[in-house]
Amino acid sequence: MDCIKCNSSQVRVIDTRAKGTRRIYRRRVCMMCGFRWTTVELPVGDVRQAVDAVNGLEERRGKKHTAKR
Ligand SMILES: [Zn+2]
Repeated sequence: MDCIKCNSSQVRVIDTRAKGTRRIYRRRVCMMCGFRWTTVELPVGDVRQAVDAVNGLEERRGKKHTAKR
């Protein structure tokens, strides 16, 4: 996975932790610009849950949340 800030491929995983048996959180750091972020990995078929998790994060950060149904 490339850096989401500068698109560099010089990215390292500095921490991996599992939540339960299904979700894996990976802490990543870019070697080029130093940006750090976290990715969530889910088994195939859990896309719906992944979307919900992202929406939850956005809400907690106070961003506007618009759900389309
Ligand atoms: Zn970067």
